[in-house]
Amino acid sequence: MAELTPINSLRLEELEARLVELGEPKYKALQVFKWLSLGVESFDEMTDVSKALRAKLAEQFYIERLTIVTKQSSMLDGTVKYLFGLRDGNSIETVLMKYKHGYSVCISTQAGCKMGCIFCASFEKGATRNLTAGEILLQVIMAQKDSGNRISNIVLMGTGEPLDNYDNVMAFLDLVSHEKGVNIGMRHISLSTCGLVPRIYDLAQLKKQLTLSISLHAPNNEIRSKIMPVNNKYDIHSLLKACRHYFDVTGRRISFEYAMIRGVNDTRDCAYELARLLKGFNCHVNLIPLNHIEGSPLKPSTREDQAAFQKILESYHITTTVRRQHLGADIDASCGQLRRRIQNQEAKQ
Ligand code: SAH
Repeated sequence: MAELTPINSLRLEELEARLVELGEPKYKALQVFKWLSLGVESFDEMTDVSKALRAKLAEQFYIERLTIVTKQSSMLDGTVKYLFGLRDGNSIETVLMKYKHGYSVCISTQAGCKMGCIFCASFEKGATRNLTAGEILLQVIMAQKDSGNRISNIVLMGTGEPLDNYDNVMAFLDLVSHEKGVNIGMRHISLSTCGLVPRIYDLAQLKKQLTLSISLHAPNNEIRSKIMPVNNKYDIHSLLKACRHYFDVTGRRISFEYAMIRGVNDTRDCAYELARLLKGFNCHVNLIPLNHIEGSPLKPSTREDQAAFQKILESYHITTTVRRQHLGADIDASCGQLRRRIQNQEAKQ
């Protein structure tokens, strides 16, 4: 028997083509697509689709599904963190956050990550795999369904490097922004990357209106290569060149993420160097207090160092914000920590 296709990963046009191949009228694809956007778990839930077609679909496709393994709710700020189980036993994290202007969800694009940034809990040796477009999409749908809240913003800042799973992430963006589907516009989506330069050029070509965030974390190659191995492949100057190109082509202002690590990248010299590097570039810098990871020697910067760093950037007219203490601090709600803790527990058992 031919291998089944995960139906949630198909764009509407792809689904239409598949149904036409099966001898069905094209319009039926839209009915199916709408059901999938609501997070149905079986073809039988598609009550306005004929039984015959449901049976036909089940012969060709399977519906991707995420199960809630654990769910933690923050007592501090209403953040909810999900650990979702996948078909193959892998698990991924998704975080739902409440802001003044609505709900935002932080989603994973891979199970594990192979980029190796030394400050990040997501990196682990061994197998990692790309998530399908459907698995990425279902994180949004499940968070929406489980919480009963309409999600207005998405950040691709969970586990994984989105541009290392380029095709599936692009399919996800088309799916989630489709007006007949989940319908979250590109302007409400941020994609964060550690800097896979060729893929930044590819993305620019698509001229999507999403916000590109770059995990910069250092003002020069020496420091960046020490903390982010990807910099050995694509150095900081080639990265910034790609960013300038991205801005020129899309007109979208880039956001630079900078996790402040005590004594590593947070000195005044670093601030001046960063300011010179970004001077004149229409961008935004987001300073993030490092989130301490159990067992790591790296520590967050002091408030004073953070404030001094920000002041220097601002004196160069670089728009800078300091991210508020991260949401869900009481539930390990960031950077792969829940997944890691559960895996460590399993390893100990
Ligand atoms: N791979 C992508 C997206 C996932 S990481 C990327 O690198 O951008 C999301 C963000 O969290 C990145 O900016 C990452 O550098 C940052 N991050 C990872 N570990 C962190 C930590 N311990 N403290 C603060 N930020 C961290």
